[in-house]
Amino acid sequence: MAVSFQPSRILTFEEARHVVEEHASQLRPHGRELLGLIDAVGRVLAEPIYADRDFPPFPRAARDGFAVRSADVQKVPATLEVTGEIKAGEAHIPELGQRQAISIMTGGAAPARADAIVMVEYTSRSGSRIEVARAVSTGENIVSKGAEAKREDKLLEPGTRLSYAEIALAASVGRSRLLVNSKPRVAVLSTGDEVVDVDLLPGPTQIRNSNTYSLAAQILAAGGDPVLLPIAPDEPTRLRELLTEGLEADLLLIAGGVSMGKYDLVEQVLSELEAEFFFTGALIQPGKPIVFGSVPSGEAHRERKYFFGLPGNPISTMVTFGLFGRPLISALSGATPQKLMFLRAKLKTAIKTKIGLRRFLPAAISGEFEQSAVELIAWQGSGDIASAARANCFVIVTPDRERIEAGEWVPVLLKSSF
Ligand code: AMP
Ligand code: MG
Repeated sequence: MAVSFQPSRILTFEEARHVVEEHASQLRPHGRELLGLIDAVGRVLAEPIYADRDFPPFPRAARDGFAVRSADVQKVPATLEVTGEIKAGEAHIPELGQRQAISIMTGGAAPARADAIVMVEYTSRSGSRIEVARAVSTGENIVSKGAEAKREDKLLEPGTRLSYAEIALAASVGRSRLLVNSKPRVAVLSTGDEVVDVDLLPGPTQIRNSNTYSLAAQILAAGGDPVLLPIAPDEPTRLRELLTEGLEADLLLIAGGVSMGKYDLVEQVLSELEAEFFFTGALIQPGKPIVFGSVPSGEAHRERKYFFGLPGNPISTMVTFGLFGRPLISALSGATPQKLMFLRAKLKTAIKTKIGLRRFLPAAISGEFEQSAVELIAWQGSGDIASAARANCFVIVTPDRERIEAGEWVPVLLKSSF
């Protein structure tokens, strides 16, 4: 078949990310399932979650102490008579009279006429009397009924990724099962005649396949279901077979074979499959040869199946997955789109580089709060897997900078966000 090659299309990082986000916004998950709370951890909610009652359902004591009327303890020290006790879960709530106090535990329901809790630390008790050493203001240490949420308030939107706080919220409204979106199936195809699988002994000039496994790990962390294909040789017939198989998944990630080399055949074979390329490179390092496109699929070719051609150098593969693959997997999971979230840290040692590319350089961040400091990991370029394993983050260098001085605050992306 005659293949018409589309001209190369190299975008800035921002443009490329925008293109991916635009396509991602058209994608929907392919199904839903009902899961128990623990199985739903990390999944994306497919239904809204509502408050089944007011939160808190009663005026809740936020401290161990004494329920009082604040007016009685404006002048201190004040002596009050202790007339009862309320523990958490207590159903019978005694009345509170003037110049009286009721001993109350955190989580107990405050009496109707109490408007504050005096912390036990500010009282001294002798028999049935307490002396209060500190005044309290109205509402102090009491969370009023419905202050956190009112019955039928929407607490979680569909599209929310379920982490521990969301799981706790679902539990608190009595939802032991949650409707979540199905995980997208993400096919992984590593290419290269030099690449052998992990259980084989590589020849002197061969290397083991690590990209399939780093990608599988990243797909799992992003909420996808990895589908691992056999390694594709740099030979068009078998490559085409495996690409076709990979395109049956919801998304196909190809690693390697997208650079300018004579045996980088991925784009050529994808063109034969009527691929449309949205970009064929981005001005980033590592990962410049990143390719994003789609092929027609489904009935009468009305749908599109997306693929990424990720450069095969292992750190390029990792970084381009994090920057471009991840948002597409999120979209296929039905998650509300998220921007990349950066930290800032003070650079320990100056960086000298060249202008033109946005760089994502493996680095180690240490210290905390305003002492956060970061320094680059020495690396031998984007093939250096050991440097990626030593790093806990990537420092971002903007394309207009040739030099960044020690002491400057620089943007940092945590490795875990990739
Ligand atoms: P490519 O993008 O195919 O030109 O590959 C770039 C570099 O990445 C080459 O040095 C490859 O040997 C290496 N590489 C390609 N695929 C893999 C893989 N699956 N695992 C580890 N390294 C790879
Ligand atoms: Mg290759």
